Amino acid sequence: MTKRKNLFIAVTTAIALTLSIPIAFAEPGINANQPQTKAIDAKSVADQHLKEHASKYQLPDDLSSLQFVTTIDTEAASYVRYQQVIQGAPVFTKQITVTVDRAGKALLVVSDYVPFNSIEQMKSKISPQEAESKALEYIGGANKSKWSSASREFGYVIEDGKAIPSYRVVVKTNAPADEWDTYVHAGSGKLLKKKNRVQYATGTGKVFNPNPVETQDSTSGLADNRDADSTALTNQLKSVTLLGLDGSGYLRGQYATISSKAKTYSATNTFNYTRANDSFEDVMAYYHIDTLQRYIQSLGFTNINNRSITVNTNGTTADNSFYSPATKALTFGTGGVDDAEDAGIIAHEYGHSIQDNQVPDWGQSAEGGAMGEGFGDYLGATYEDALTGNDTFGKACVGEWDAVSYSSSNPPCLRRLDENKVYPQDWAGEVHADGEIWSQGEYEMAQAFGRDVATKLILQSHWSLTPNATFNDGAKAIKQADVLLYNGSHGAQIDAIWAARGISTQ
Ligand SMILES: [Zn+2]
Repeated sequence: MTKRKNLFIAVTTAIALTLSIPIAFAEPGINANQPQTKAIDAKSVADQHLKEHASKYQLPDDLSSLQFVTTIDTEAASYVRYQQVIQGAPVFTKQITVTVDRAGKALLVVSDYVPFNSIEQMKSKISPQEAESKALEYIGGANKSKWSSASREFGYVIEDGKAIPSYRVVVKTNAPADEWDTYVHAGSGKLLKKKNRVQYATGTGKVFNPNPVETQDSTSGLADNRDADSTALTNQLKSVTLLGLDGSGYLRGQYATISSKAKTYSATNTFNYTRANDSFEDVMAYYHIDTLQRYIQSLGFTNINNRSITVNTNGTTADNSFYSPATKALTFGTGGVDDAEDAGIIAHEYGHSIQDNQVPDWGQSAEGGAMGEGFGDYLGATYEDALTGNDTFGKACVGEWDAVSYSSSNPPCLRRLDENKVYPQDWAGEVHADGEIWSQGEYEMAQAFGRDVATKLILQSHWSLTPNATFNDGAKAIKQADVLLYNGSHGAQIDAIWAARGISTQ
């Protein structure tokens, strides 16, 4: 038996010898003048070296706790990699490498090896499926729509000299786009540790913030001119920090994933473009959506559209943009001023995705549709106001820059939030026009209570609503949200604001 075994090893060594002669197979001519290097068996060298220095690296003399992984041969050296194992199962992430030069000398050992005194015994072992369920529970991703894949492996974690049998479960989640590395006790199912492997990167970029008409306080010299650059427009660019990037160099991150034809990329996460460049709209969409989602979370809501939304800027030549409840993605058009050059328009569209997230099938009824458009305008107008401080130019107006190409008012507005339309006499039967009834009530709440309180009341109220909810239902839900969040302290003003729009809160 022993003889056969030795013979077997001898044969494999011979094979390894034949395979580890990379220089002998070099292209003729390229290495013709270089001295021929004697082939070496790097793994044998590494094995021998570790055995001779076993005590230095706290290894058993026979290396029984190491499993060979790979030998990488390069022209300069070979690299032999081992995995620490216990009874054939990995000690997770613990490896050793030995660097062997072309002369067959071990130059360097890098070791993660962790010695241990005992192996914890389990009464019973949970199944890989049970370990996966536990891991999903621990990361809050038990809902299937929130995670896309999971892998699980049995092995060991060593803590305080004790080897703990465990499962490593790696889960990719969609909302947000994280990758969790979790370790679950294979006996008790208890969480040993977890770590998010996605490291977010911070970048910089240039944007209109919110749009050039608002920041210049006039339309003077600002014209679309078929997407051309101009000094006046370039002067309105603001440098901003881009948060939550995934570090790939693309505009992909925690709350937005840009998927546009420009394929905007920067190895250094530096995204400085002027508006004539299609990548400019990509930066606009990324920055403003990320900022809006962070604002929503700052109000205490971590479950409203908390995902990385796919955005296609310059995705249609129409002067229109849309949210698709089927794909859950946003598309911005290039007709007139590119829609994604105006943060008011970006916020409006993001508003649709927020409502779809809070109330699936939102806006089946005419009044529901009008509440949808009104909320988008509210979100856009209050965002613009927050960015321009106490500036009265552009108050109660949304999309000043987008509207330059079709409005002659000063400032130009996609729509206004102070048209004093009253329900039902001003009902027009068109969702955007009728949305002005709704947006004004919400906007007046922001003037009365401040943006944060009004936005909290409105977002909280959405959860009460149904796809066919009416204006009256919407106003009642806002009043109810005030009772839940603020003990009804804004009740009288809420009644008055909505009564002025012809809408009862009772
Ligand atoms: Zn809309």
